Amino acid sequence: METLLDIRNLSVDFRTPRGRVQALRDVSFPVRKNRIVGIVGESGSGKSTVLWAILGLLAKNAEVTSGEVQFGARDLLHAGEAALRAARGEEISVVFQDPMTSQIPVLTYGQQMLDILYRRRNVSAAEKRRLAVEMLGKVGIPDPASRIDQYPHHFSGGMRQRAGIAMALLTGPKLLLADEPTTALDVTMEAQIIHLLQELQHELDATVVVVSHNLGLIAELCDDVVVMYAGEVIEAGEVREIFHNAQHPYTRALLECDPARIDDVSRKLPVIPGEIPDLTRPRQGCIFAPRCQRVMPECRQITPPDVERSAGNFARCHLLDGPLADPSWPPPHEV
Ligand code: SF4
Ligand code: MG
Repeated sequence: METLLDIRNLSVDFRTPRGRVQALRDVSFPVRKNRIVGIVGESGSGKSTVLWAILGLLAKNAEVTSGEVQFGARDLLHAGEAALRAARGEEISVVFQDPMTSQIPVLTYGQQMLDILYRRRNVSAAEKRRLAVEMLGKVGIPDPASRIDQYPHHFSGGMRQRAGIAMALLTGPKLLLADEPTTALDVTMEAQIIHLLQELQHELDATVVVVSHNLGLIAELCDDVVVMYAGEVIEAGEVREIFHNAQHPYTRALLECDPARIDDVSRKLPVIPGEIPDLTRPRQGCIFAPRCQRVMPECRQITPPDVERSAGNFARCHLLDGPLADPSWPPPHEV
């Protein structure tokens, strides 16, 4: 399967008054073409930072200390502002968590959508409007030819998010990024938006990366999942494989909290005992050791390797490989 986006050894620090916060450490995963990839983790796990790094929109106090974000032949981390801006407009677009803050309240949807198409100099304004109306129809806005002249405050929350998706898809991007796209919505709307994203991904042949702390959403929507913890990818692979055969103690703890409701989209990330580590401290050994029920003394000293369990599925844990491996781990579990 072709890889559209390849994140390799990405490390990002934030300079803060408390010192350097290691927001991402050695993050690597591929995004394969025409797949929906979910990045899941607690808040502070670095999942949104990955998204902003792909967009080249990291905060001013961020410093990329290593890595690449390969998109086709380009490394987005070193592409330069003009190239990035062009990629953001045409090839990569974003759906935000809260459309109320990402859409422009004083412009109608028609005006905002015309702005998005500003690069298409050889397309007439009438044709741009036709494209915009068509896209609003595609995302399920009723009577799009008249509602296109309304403002965001005329739309309900669910309709606003549909319009946000229409705006993101207007240029026919190869890659759609979505940051907690359903968090601001109620459960019914959430399910509708999930199905809409699925349909559109299929119809438009797009590749989607969605960040969420909602395991049910990931199970419903995604083909692949990347599990993040304290700035590291601790397990990644196909959703079906990981949800049924998780290898990492952290992923297993998340899934075992409430396995019966795994497909429930209202399900939020369960709370497991302990706290995420202080990310200003130097890392030694396994980052999950302070909370791991299977911790061994060596885990606190030696950084665990990424162990590939089957093609494309890997987990970062000593139990899976090398002298510390436990042949009885992981025990089978039912989801
Ligand atoms: Fe737990 Fe050790 Fe595996 Fe880390 S390496 S997840 S501490 S068993
Ligand atoms: Mg976030």
